[in-house]
Amino acid sequence: SDAVLEVRNLDVNYGIGDEAVNAVHDVSLTLHRGEVLGLAGESGSGKSTLAYGLTRLLPPPGVIAGGEVIYHAENGETADVMRMTDRELRAFRWAETAIVFQGAMNSLNPVHKIATQMTDAIKAHDPGSTARSRLDRAREMLALVGISADRLDSYPHQLSGGMRQRVMIGMALALDPRVVIMDEPTTALDVVIQRQILGQIIALRERLGFSVLFITHDLSLLVEFSDRIAIMYGGRIVEEAPAVDLYRSSLHPYSDGLLHSFPALHGPRRELTGIPGSPPDLRAMPTGCAFHPRCPKVFEPCATDLPVLGVPRDVTAPAGRTVACWLHPTH
Ligand code: ATP
Ligand code: MG
Repeated sequence: SDAVLEVRNLDVNYGIGDEAVNAVHDVSLTLHRGEVLGLAGESGSGKSTLAYGLTRLLPPPGVIAGGEVIYHAENGETADVMRMTDRELRAFRWAETAIVFQGAMNSLNPVHKIATQMTDAIKAHDPGSTARSRLDRAREMLALVGISADRLDSYPHQLSGGMRQRVMIGMALALDPRVVIMDEPTTALDVVIQRQILGQIIALRERLGFSVLFITHDLSLLVEFSDRIAIMYGGRIVEEAPAVDLYRSSLHPYSDGLLHSFPALHGPRRELTGIPGSPPDLRAMPTGCAFHPRCPKVFEPCATDLPVLGVPRDVTAPAGRTVACWLHPTH
């Protein structure tokens, strides 16, 4: 297959025993070679937990409670990230994945110039490179994220939050990763720059062939930039579809609500209605479909029976589409 990363039935808890809350439940997702997979959902839906979980960077009290994450290496070998030794894990994180987490801009070292931090990262990753080539690469990556080369001599505090975040993105891309995971890397940026950077990353993706898992609550951005979109609610994936299909005909009322929560950049204007109510409390999840208390289309089975993610029977040629909603019985 052309899968790069396959998440299978991943479960992540915070805390253990009676205290445990299940923040990611039975999530399966495949990131294919060269694609941009978007992950959307309201605050607290489990997006970051999933990203930290699948890279095993989960901070305590986070615990992987089950599942596998199969990584398909360039040479055709596969490995379960969940079973890697610390050494294998380090190699995997350095050589294969680049991760730009929420608030990454705060992880720049305040006492070193941008140039030093970027070239050190490149050196750690590629010890055989020359100082000259490292600096060239740093300059190239900064240009890519829209920062001029004279900023190489700046210290982090001399840059705005948005610029620091862009430096982090440039640094991640400088390591020539196969998988790029971005957890709302652009929240600190204004909308115009956000779109511009995403556009550049996608162009680069076509050139270098990496895959992107892009996490945001702004579905309009995903509709524009990703190939496929997965929607999370209450720790579960409730719908997955090619971006175009999701935009044209979302199946889950929650996806529909999300689409009406952000202004569309292209296409027909949608009325912004948002989603009434608030996300579920993980300690007191509603019975049946977790979305039913907020769902405008709630009906008889929703409050009692949990809909399972599956291929919808009522959609002709549902290529790549899955949904967990009683409105769309599945195979
Ligand atoms: P956002 O859009 O705000 O970034 P998210 O989708 O990334 O939200 P997560 O941060 O993954 O959501 O949180 C998922 C759930 O796990 C939330 O209910 C959150 O309260 C809970 N959670 C996150 N971190 C912890 C923690 N350290 N301890 C306990 N619960 C946590
Ligand atoms: Mg998050």
